Amino acid sequence: MHGQQNPNIRSNDNLNLYTSIKIVIIDDSLSKMAYSNTMNKHRRNILKVCGSLILGMMTSCLRNIAPKGDGNMLQNKKLKMVLAPTEQHWVGDGFHVHTLIQPTPDLYPSISPFLLMDYAPPKEFGATTKKQGVGEHPHRGFETVTFALNGEIEHRDSAGGGGIIGAGGVQWMTAASGLVHEEFHSKEFAKTGGTFEMVQLWVNLPASKKMTNPRYQGIKNDQFPRVTLGESSIAQIVAGTCNETTGPCKTHTDINAYIIDSQKKDKINLNFKDGTNTLILVLRGKVVNEEKSHLEKSLLIFERGGTSINLDLEENSKILVLNGEPIDEPVAAYGPFVMNTREELMEAVKDYQSGKMGHL
Ligand code: MN
Repeated sequence: MHGQQNPNIRSNDNLNLYTSIKIVIIDDSLSKMAYSNTMNKHRRNILKVCGSLILGMMTSCLRNIAPKGDGNMLQNKKLKMVLAPTEQHWVGDGFHVHTLIQPTPDLYPSISPFLLMDYAPPKEFGATTKKQGVGEHPHRGFETVTFALNGEIEHRDSAGGGGIIGAGGVQWMTAASGLVHEEFHSKEFAKTGGTFEMVQLWVNLPASKKMTNPRYQGIKNDQFPRVTLGESSIAQIVAGTCNETTGPCKTHTDINAYIIDSQKKDKINLNFKDGTNTLILVLRGKVVNEEKSHLEKSLLIFERGGTSINLDLEENSKILVLNGEPIDEPVAAYGPFVMNTREELMEAVKDYQSGKMGHL
């Protein structure tokens, strides 16, 4: 290969999209607990991967805190924390997002199986012929789920998946063993411009599913069943089950995902399995839980224990509700890859660079 560049070598630029996710290693091995404090002091140690990437390394440990409950039936899931939005940043030139959660050692036990949530609140885009969004970049080891709330998103991946979703549509993309994809505002939307709003959620996969085949599910707004909650609130069932109605998105672990709209002031009750994690993002209006009010862009995170959540919704409120069985396994995350060990991360970088994740 003297003097010749291999056209199959992929650019490292595409690995820099998710710069906020430095290498994070979450190891639940208790034997390492004693070292965690010392290790944290050395989090600035550098690690060379594949001779081409210098990565920040952080090692920490955490306890397995799953309170696999008994006798918790019918108890309220208590609010554990509320996260306020961070500063907005651009993902490519199409998505101006608040990153609300990331898989840090402190947070992951409370959000698992969810890893990351980027919220792009309503924003006006002018008419353009330019492709706005993110070009080809890889993923391995998890799923990216895009909720289009306003505007249209077009997706294409190297495993053959692709499509356009408009407001109320969801793209549930399982990267699993790896692919490259691009995410843009649709041509039609770009042509006229308008209000754009979306949520991108990363959903972890258990170790046993990380190297399975990629899958793409593009579901349009009118394909989702609706359930009435409270007096008049409407829940769009994306995945899982709500009052015996099941949503169309297939998941690898038990997940419930709903978008709930309330035109009028209303009281609703949600029920989930004991021992699961629940996240609620306030998209519009105001939500009251146990006498505390939460405004737009607040992310409510509940305790694993308990089964019931009561919410008072102000008129014209809209929330995204996520619930899932935690995946209590070690996490090794770097940029667009989320695996279980550092070695698997290095392998992911190598496989991407050598073109094994495919081409668009
Ligand atoms: Mn992506």
